[in-house]
Amino acid sequence: MKERLRKFMEGRYGADELNRFLTVCGWVLLLIGFVLSGIDNKVTLIVGSVLVTLSWALLIYSLFRTFSKRTQARAAENYRYFVCKNKVLGWFRRGKARWQDRKTHRYFRCPQCRATVRVPKGKGKIRITCPKCRHQFVKKS
Ligand SMILES: [Zn+2]
Repeated sequence: MKERLRKFMEGRYGADELNRFLTVCGWVLLLIGFVLSGIDNKVTLIVGSVLVTLSWALLIYSLFRTFSKRTQARAAENYRYFVCKNKVLGWFRRGKARWQDRKTHRYFRCPQCRATVRVPKGKGKIRITCPKCRHQFVKKS
């Protein structure tokens, strides 16, 4: 049995981070979908059914990826998932940092290149030089 499973999985992609993410999302949506479908209400029934359908799609997609023989395409998907995940995490991390030093620093956007510039708070009117494009602008800190 073990040998047959090993043979079957030969050349197939297997599990990765994206699959784990899809599986967890799938199960969570399935659970929420079931709970919503159980409520006696037309809207929650529709939303619940959509969630259950969506969760099945996610779970089937993750299975498809596990057994796929096009490993390079699957690895590329996993890479795109990582890039996306890091962008989202980075956004939250920056938001958290900004919240933590809200009393000591102010954030401005460079009018030329849209880069975010962080300056100490309470220094009055200051000339800010953008570290990215060297553009200068005046703001009250
Ligand atoms: Zn700039």
